[in-house]
Amino acid sequence: MEKHRQPGQAIQTPVMYLKGVGEHRARLLAKLGVHNVLDLMELFPRTYLSRLVNPTLSELQVGDLVSLTAEISWVDAKPTARGKKILNVGVNDGMIGLTCVWFSYPPAYLKLFKPGTTIWISGTLSAYNNQLQMNHPDFEILYQDHEEEGFWKTRQLLPVYPLTEGLSQNLMRKIVLNAFSTYADQISENLPDFILQKHQFPPRRDALQMMHFAQKTEAADKARIRFAYEEFFYSQIMWARHRVFHDKKEQGITFENHPRLTTALKNKLTFELTSAQKRVIREIFADMCSDTQMSRLVQGDVGSGKTIVTLFAMLLAVENGYQAALMAPTEILAEQHYQNFTKLLESLPIRVVLLKGGNYKGKAELKNQIASGEAQIVLGTHALIQKDVMFHRLGLVVVDEQHRFGVEQRARLASKDSHPDLLYLSATPIPRSLAMTVYGDLQVSQIDEMPPNRKSVLSYVRSDRKFDTVLSDVQKELQKDRQAYFVCPLVEESEKLALLDAQRLFDYLKNKIFTSYTVELIHGRMANKDKDEIMRRFKAGEIQILVSTTVIEVGVDVPNATVMVIEHAERFGLAQLHQLRGRVGRGADQAYCYLISHHPLSSMARERLSIMSRSTDGFVIAEKDLELRGPGEVFGYEQSGLPEFRFANLVQDQAILTLAREDAFGIVLQDPQLMQDEHKLLRNIYLSKYHKREALILY
Ligand code: ADP
Ligand code: MG
Repeated sequence: MEKHRQPGQAIQTPVMYLKGVGEHRARLLAKLGVHNVLDLMELFPRTYLSRLVNPTLSELQVGDLVSLTAEISWVDAKPTARGKKILNVGVNDGMIGLTCVWFSYPPAYLKLFKPGTTIWISGTLSAYNNQLQMNHPDFEILYQDHEEEGFWKTRQLLPVYPLTEGLSQNLMRKIVLNAFSTYADQISENLPDFILQKHQFPPRRDALQMMHFAQKTEAADKARIRFAYEEFFYSQIMWARHRVFHDKKEQGITFENHPRLTTALKNKLTFELTSAQKRVIREIFADMCSDTQMSRLVQGDVGSGKTIVTLFAMLLAVENGYQAALMAPTEILAEQHYQNFTKLLESLPIRVVLLKGGNYKGKAELKNQIASGEAQIVLGTHALIQKDVMFHRLGLVVVDEQHRFGVEQRARLASKDSHPDLLYLSATPIPRSLAMTVYGDLQVSQIDEMPPNRKSVLSYVRSDRKFDTVLSDVQKELQKDRQAYFVCPLVEESEKLALLDAQRLFDYLKNKIFTSYTVELIHGRMANKDKDEIMRRFKAGEIQILVSTTVIEVGVDVPNATVMVIEHAERFGLAQLHQLRGRVGRGADQAYCYLISHHPLSSMARERLSIMSRSTDGFVIAEKDLELRGPGEVFGYEQSGLPEFRFANLVQDQAILTLAREDAFGIVLQDPQLMQDEHKLLRNIYLSKYHKREALILY
């Protein structure tokens, strides 16, 4: 097989051909972004298990958060009254027994747990009927009884990889080892010598091996720091080149502020703008009226009124004879903005259009109006960035819920015309370091004030055992003609299982509880048009109860919905809980949020839920979230354009970022084209990683 490939390319061999993988597993690995052998080598362990610390059960007390290795002695799965199955797994450390309990679990667990298997578990120790118990522990199958002594069995530190359904830690460890034993000598260096020496970084090949096979966490850390630096370094080379080659000065449109349309809009508003909104509008106008291309992020909590602020900016563009476009992540949202804007601009001579995805009657005509400039305000989804959509004097681009779009998508809209001003909206505060890495030089405005007279949503954490009382509270709201959301989380990274849970809840609510109301189910696997249809009916009040997986999280505004019930709230991140809760409390009525928790709660989950019941301030919540989970989790790797930051933690690694930034800017300012001999490697690596991205940001 080897001889068919070019030398040096072997490390790019599709992972399918690696010993122990094959076609089926290759498809599963692809879900983790692993396509070839090198990808596998670069798959950074999520965490490591230490074999050195292994307490015996007799030393431990109820309430302790513990991790230990033990052997499975028995397995028992029995159904309960509500049709759910409980899984009990007895383990012992040779002296004392402990029961691990799962109140819901994927069927695959039944195959995993076998008497005689050695398992690592981690969780809070509790007691039930005088027997030690651990509910929903984290676990790793270490090895089966009769498995022969292998490499991993003797290691002090075990890597724990990100998984997807159908892959196990054991398998991952085996194939990672296989990858290195065959291809390690093919790993090439990515950083110039002078950088390695300056920071005493290990060579790339050593660092990769340390990452997987370290015997001490310090070594694994050292390796990770090298890779974090590498990621920062190349991204900063890009921003440094951006600074050199794309001086935004004098490239922007200089709008003039003759407040004709904007005053007319102000007079049409049924409410007074908050002083935060007024300040942000001033900041935006100042940017737009300067000759520098605007690149500004507006941050404001869910419901703080970002939309109206952008409408003022769009009108400024329009009264200067330019077009303004707004892109939203879902059709539901785009439609919502469209209805809003047409109503507000009713009596003004402004043409607002909505461009949706797919083919439909009248679309060609809409595109003509956009291309001719007849359409002055253009709203839409990803449909706006299709190749055949042309603009006419596009002066302002607004991206709503910007973290929902990739860098490329944002850039594609921005490059529809030359140097339009750019406005990004986000409900999630972005730390400065993140802004610097993802957006280069980005200005930030904050709407740090809520419109007056908002009743804050009353939030309650309820145990699932009290679910019935929650249902009767929901019933009371329904009797007042209000509507309710029920949301189920993703389980074990599997949309399929989430759907099972949502489906079960849906059947239960529809057939057993709310039989006289219209209950519908919406989930991520449905076609867009079906989702939109259900949302439309919910908005119109034709559906009273909407059961969903997490598809309804952003932006949707249904003021008549006053109840949000979140199942397994302990499994959600804070930002997501806040977004979900933000779906209610949008009207004048008191709204309620029930966070249903299933025991046991990890200390982190407990902290999250308690923050949710204490605070309704999105900034406080977001800060906590970043602290608890880190930005990759908070912003999502794909959407935020962070895929290249697989090692770097944008909150914790700020010092590394600063180093990388200084190095990168130093190099580029002195040799912008990277033509010098000592920059040759750097130039090649940079171009291979960033060539496409760079083309995108130099609009
Ligand atoms: P978000 O910032 O989450 O995008 P929206 O822009 O959708 O929030 O605004 C939420 C709701 O608040 C809308 O119904 C909007 O009309 C209303 N709103 C915006 N500004 C004010 C204000 N100053 N006073 C009262 N209501 C406002
Ligand atoms: Mg919004």
